Amino acid sequence: MAAGPCTVANNLYCDQAMCEQCNYARLLKNADLEATANRLHVMEVVGGNNCPLTAAEIFHTISRTQPINQVTVYRILELLVEQNLLERITIGGRAAHYGMAPNEHHAPHPHFICTRCAAIDCLSPECLSVDMENLRKTFSGEVERVEVRVEGICRNCLKGGGKK
Ligand SMILES: [Zn+2]
Ligand SMILES: [Zn+2]
Ligand SMILES: [Zn+2]
Repeated sequence: MAAGPCTVANNLYCDQAMCEQCNYARLLKNADLEATANRLHVMEVVGGNNCPLTAAEIFHTISRTQPINQVTVYRILELLVEQNLLERITIGGRAAHYGMAPNEHHAPHPHFICTRCAAIDCLSPECLSVDMENLRKTFSGEVERVEVRVEGICRNCLKGGGKK
């Protein structure tokens, strides 16, 4: 059910981007949210894809099998990001993409963004590591979240196949 173009070489792929172990109903419950059918559909679509999706892609995927409107999807995405169940990846001027937020089954990982076609991929957590210990030692504030973003040209665009 891959809705987005996943373009990074397999060995860099993030195994943990795709969800096999999360219990969505329990994640929602832990965040004090009722596990409504629509919230579960959103979690399933985001967790079931191996790269982050835009709100429009999430809406279209759900609406193939469920009656749901776009506003509902947007509202649920807002809520799930607020509650740290999903992470929002934004690039200036482009549609935000959504992926699973780091939790016990999903390690924080860098994202690759193609500067030509704007495809976003999850990279494996090991391919670029942040020395958190050193960061904490040298930074006097409190670190809450680290986001690593790699920009370049994806495999499809290098082959000339990416959309301009
Ligand atoms: Zn998961
Ligand atoms: Zn590209
Ligand atoms: Zn990701």
